[in-house]
Amino acid sequence: MWGREMSAADEAISTQDMIARRSRLLGPAYRLFYDQPVQFVRGEGVWLHDAAGNRYLDAYNNVASVGHCHPHVVQAIARQAAVLNTHTRYLHETVLDFAEKLLATFPHQIGHVMFTCTGSEANDLALRVARTCTGGTGFIVTANAYHGVTSALTELSPSLGLPRPDASHARLIPAPGSEANAGEVFARHVSAALEDMRKCGIKPAALLVDTIFSSDGVFADPPGFLRPAVEAVRAEGALFIADEVQPGFGRCGEQMWGFARHDLVPDLVTMGKPMGNGHPVAGMAARPELLAEFGRRSRYFNTFGGNPVSAAAGIAVLDVIESEGLMQNAQHTGDYLVKLLRQLKARYPLIAEIRSAGLFVGVELRHGGQTGTPATAEAARVVNLLRERRVLISSAGPQGNVLKIRPPLVFGTEHADLLVQRLDQALAEVNVTQEK
Ligand code: PMP
Repeated sequence: MWGREMSAADEAISTQDMIARRSRLLGPAYRLFYDQPVQFVRGEGVWLHDAAGNRYLDAYNNVASVGHCHPHVVQAIARQAAVLNTHTRYLHETVLDFAEKLLATFPHQIGHVMFTCTGSEANDLALRVARTCTGGTGFIVTANAYHGVTSALTELSPSLGLPRPDASHARLIPAPGSEANAGEVFARHVSAALEDMRKCGIKPAALLVDTIFSSDGVFADPPGFLRPAVEAVRAEGALFIADEVQPGFGRCGEQMWGFARHDLVPDLVTMGKPMGNGHPVAGMAARPELLAEFGRRSRYFNTFGGNPVSAAAGIAVLDVIESEGLMQNAQHTGDYLVKLLRQLKARYPLIAEIRSAGLFVGVELRHGGQTGTPATAEAARVVNLLRERRVLISSAGPQGNVLKIRPPLVFGTEHADLLVQRLDQALAEVNVTQEK
C-alpha cells in the first residue's frame, strides 16, 4: 500500500543513489540531516516510516504540528482542492472564515491578518510595514537569529553564517540568558543597539525576535523578560515584531503564542510552519492602525498566499488544536518530559541546563557545567546516535551544543518515555567514548 518495502541492504544502496542524484539535480547549497541521511516514505501522528519499513519517533518536526498526515487536515485540503482553488482577488468565504478564526486567537489589539506562503514572506512583509510606518530602516535581531530566506532577511539572519551582504542597518545583540535578571540585561543590549543606531544616523524600525529564541538555543524564562526591551524600542518610535514561526500555534503550552508568555501585545506578528500542518500557508497579523498607513501607500497581492485550499488547511489545524486539546497536551507532556530530562541531568554532568516552554525543549550540553565549554561534537553525536535508535531530534544554538526537542504536539507521555530511554542510551555511549 505504501510502495515497495526494501531490505536494509537495498535501502542503503538506494539512499546512496538518492544522495548522488539529489546533489546532481539540486546542487550544493542543500544540506541533509544526519551522518546517515534518512528516506521517509510515510508519516502518521508522531511516527515517520522509512523505505525499509522502520518506524521512527519524531521528536523534531514542528511543521506537522497536529501529527503527520492528520486525517482532518488531509480531508479539508482534499475537499477544497476538489471544488475550487483560486486566490484572494476573488471573494471566498473560507478565507474569511480562516481570518476570523485565526484573529480570535490574538489579543483584541491585533485586528488584521495578511496571508503569505512562507514564514520568510511573512517576515519580509513585516519589515516593509515597519519601514513604512516608522520611516526607519534599523532592525535589531539576536546574534544567532534566523528569520528567513529573502535577501532582506538573510541580512537579519546571522545564524546562516553568511557574510551579510548589506547589514549596515542591522544591529545584532546577544540572545537573552536564563538568569533571573535576563529581562534587564536584554533591554540593556537593546538600548545600546538603539544608541548605536542614533550615533550612526539610523532611525530604528523594529526589534524582530523569535519569541522562543530557537536558533539562539531556546530561551523561554523567566516569563515576561521581553517586556523591558519592547518598552525601550517603542520609546524610540520603533515597533516590536514577534516572529511566531517557531513558538506559535500552541507549542509553548497553555498559550497559543510565544509572546503571550511575556504578557505583551506585539505590533506585528509573523507565523508559518505549523499553520497548515505541512501545507504552505503563513501570514502576518497586525494592529490595524499600522496597516492603515501601509495600505494607503501600497497594495498587496500574493498569488498563492491565502488561497481557499490553504485557508481550509489552516482552519482544520485550528480545529484540531482545539478539539484535541493540543495546547494542554503540549504543557502536560512538556512538563513530564522535562521531569524525566532532569532525572537524566542528575546522572550526566554533560547536561548543563534544560530550558523549555511546553513542547519546545532545549538541552544544553557543556563540559564542566553551565560556564564550561560547549559540547558541540557530543551534541552532534547524540543526535546521530538517536537517529540510529530511530528517534529524531536536532541541535541548535551558536555552537550547536543545545539538543533541540520539538515534536508534533500529539506527543504523549509514552513517547516522552521512549525518547528519554533512547537519549539515556545515547548519552551513556557518548560517555563511554569520552572515557576511552
Ligand atoms: N522565522 C523563524 C524563527 C524560522 O524558524 C523560520 C524557518 N525556519 C522562518 C522564519 C522562515 O520560515 P520559512 O522557512 O517558512 O520561510
